[in-house]
Amino acid sequence: MARVKLENVSRRFEGTIAIEDINLDIPDGEFWVLVGPSGCGKSTILRTIAGLDVATEGKLYLDDVSVAEIPARGRNVAMVFQNYALYPHMTVAENLGFGLQMRRVDKKTIERRVREVAQSLSIDDLLQRKPKQLSGGQQQRVALGRAIVRQAEVFLLDEPLSNLDAQLRDETRTELKQLHQKLGITTIYVTHDRTEAMTLADRLVVLDRGRIQQIGTPQEVYNYPCNRMVATFVGSPHTNILRTTYLGGQFSFGDRFIPIPQEIREAIAPVEGQAFDLGIRPEAISIAGDNINNLAGLLVKIETIEPLGKETFLRCSLSDSNSHLSLLVSPQWQGKVGDRLEIELNMSKIMIFKAINGENLYPTPVF
Ligand code: ATP
Repeated sequence: MARVKLENVSRRFEGTIAIEDINLDIPDGEFWVLVGPSGCGKSTILRTIAGLDVATEGKLYLDDVSVAEIPARGRNVAMVFQNYALYPHMTVAENLGFGLQMRRVDKKTIERRVREVAQSLSIDDLLQRKPKQLSGGQQQRVALGRAIVRQAEVFLLDEPLSNLDAQLRDETRTELKQLHQKLGITTIYVTHDRTEAMTLADRLVVLDRGRIQQIGTPQEVYNYPCNRMVATFVGSPHTNILRTTYLGGQFSFGDRFIPIPQEIREAIAPVEGQAFDLGIRPEAISIAGDNINNLAGLLVKIETIEPLGKETFLRCSLSDSNSHLSLLVSPQWQGKVGDRLEIELNMSKIMIFKAINGENLYPTPVF
């Protein structure tokens, strides 16, 4: 097992900065998830750690040893790719043992390691099959097994579940978590799947356009996103962002006004006419009760209705504004597209961002 440390790492391609000034210090045995939109630099970070790509600037350490000069095969890290990259002409057993064979480990030891790992992944009955005779989930386990057989100190997993169907993906995600709990190997996992990121990570690293936006536990990042991008990217369904203007001591949404709690007013120190982005998660919005004070709620028009079983997801447009928002209602809720609805925002759950650059103003982190 190993600690992984990146100091001011950048990777430039001609005309593109893939990653810039990346600083990570991943303790031995932890499971970190790199998450962010397509092209934000997730794979480049993994490839740099693996030695498949070379940083243009910065330093990389495995267990405090600088590995800049050490080629990929000299680093004790194992990378699992989205497409598994299994050798099609080899059996599962041969695929699993190949890494050890290359390191000239004796045949008996290879056979023993392959058997042990195959048993722990429940693929021991598949050892004589070729990859094309396996399901996606089984191939994925062989790819993981290959990394485990090698007894690598660090696992680098690049979207390893994205080729699986939804159910298998959920199952394999749980297995992966259990496997990490059992083996305790430092793992860096790349995904753009929000649920996967939240459920697997000891710590999340949210990236955007090659830069780290925020590092924290899933709960920290979910509850205290450092900016608008993180708020909308982390968690599913994602945060609604409503543009508002501070007018006459309240948040104005066209002809509707929402009073601002004292604590928020102090945190954001608004000036008359200033624009803000108000963030609110769908679960913090409810349909207004009969005693609604119309001036404190918002009026929306229903655009789509998506029944999810245990709840129903409504996408709406906000009257007198270009904003859209989503909310969750009970499955018993009756309504139709085009209906107008009074909603209430749970003001204890709102987030406020600077309209100009998305920086978080409220709530301020407590850690
Ligand atoms: P995805 O989720 O789509 O796989 P990613 O977050 O893993 O994306 P990277 O593959 O790391 O992103 O790419 C980061 C940026 O670097 C992208 O803009 C990409 O186009 C660019 N890039 C990556 N490899 C090269 C290359 N060999 N030459 C030029 N640009 C590259």
